[in-house]
Amino acid sequence: MLLRLSATLWLLVASPALAADRTVYLTFDDGPLAGTANILDVLQAEQVPATLFMVGMHAEANAVNRALVQRAKSMPLVTIGNHSYSHAYNHYRHFYGDTEGVVADMLRANTVLGLKPAVHARLPGRDVFRLPSMSKDDNSLGLAQAGREDPDYEFVAASGFWLYGWDHEWVHEDSGKPVQSVDHLVSEIDHLFGYGHFVKPGKLILLMHDEMFQDAFDGKAKLAALIAALKLRHYAFGAIAGYD
Ligand SMILES: [Zn+2]
Repeated sequence: MLLRLSATLWLLVASPALAADRTVYLTFDDGPLAGTANILDVLQAEQVPATLFMVGMHAEANAVNRALVQRAKSMPLVTIGNHSYSHAYNHYRHFYGDTEGVVADMLRANTVLGLKPAVHARLPGRDVFRLPSMSKDDNSLGLAQAGREDPDYEFVAASGFWLYGWDHEWVHEDSGKPVQSVDHLVSEIDHLFGYGHFVKPGKLILLMHDEMFQDAFDGKAKLAALIAALKLRHYAFGAIAGYD
């Protein structure tokens, strides 16, 4: 009886610590787009924190998108991050060849999105971290390219931005359709927490894209299923402001 009670107590005491040691940061890039409204619906229903790294050009494209930005801003658990104004027009090497242009583009998105420093941001096309406590370059770039772009990252960071890359991605096809099933993604996340090395220990930044969550891909149900599965496994959900 005593043993049994101790085991129960141990579980009660250990569970919160376990959860605190395994935090998932949900991040959604490139919105507002088709899919953003579904994301906000699910976040509201599930009451978990998340970060939407938005593109200024998309935010000002039409009234629907402007309303999505306002809705996201009104949600206490949602952080709006800066993902540039132009998304580099998807020509990253050209974009990062012009340091002052990069900074101007990021600052223009601040204006459109109504963000004030220090701004949480993710550079388009680059898995780069520049935070007060740490700095990490994009491993997919060669050393030479990373070296050429380093002044861009430093200048952006010095202009009032905290830059976040990611640890893992829920990948999508060109159409935006998610590649991994929810079950597969959750098993990847379990595996990473068991064996992986994160940028920061015990903290997994999950990269997703708004377009994955449109109705055509059953986005609402898939995101809800992911969050439910992570809750069931006692992962904690982190707001990006608490990451560094
Ligand atoms: Zn992007």
